[in-house]
Amino acid sequence: MRLTQQRTAILRLINQSDRHWDAEGIVSALNRDGQRIGIATVYRGLQALEQAELVTALQIDGRKHYERADKAHHDHLICLHCGAIEEFCSEEIEKLQQQIAVARSFAVSHHALTLYGRCQRCSSRDEARS
Ligand SMILES: [Zn+2]
Ligand SMILES: [Zn+2]
Repeated sequence: MRLTQQRTAILRLINQSDRHWDAEGIVSALNRDGQRIGIATVYRGLQALEQAELVTALQIDGRKHYERADKAHHDHLICLHCGAIEEFCSEEIEKLQQQIAVARSFAVSHHALTLYGRCQRCSSRDEARS
């Protein structure tokens, strides 16, 4: 992969924090930073960075969100109301998954576990309203 100046800028942005980014968010963050970059370039750049395993992708409702590739393994909770993405890691769940795979002689390459629902903030806001 060619690490163009634009791809370097995308990678630097993602590596700066623990956030999960979608392409639109990256475009506006880079534009705010004074960098002219279009959505198509960002899409292509993200695809290349994912293929090179320099970022990790997370599929939500058919759209990809990207995060740093060097984070420790974790799974996600996604709020369908506000789009918030939280992270968790449960040793018990990890172990169970391994046991299931071993029992089936299945060689796991990786896994992604996502819980969908309503985050705490959205739940308490809805309660306050009713
Ligand atoms: Zn929420
Ligand atoms: Zn994450």
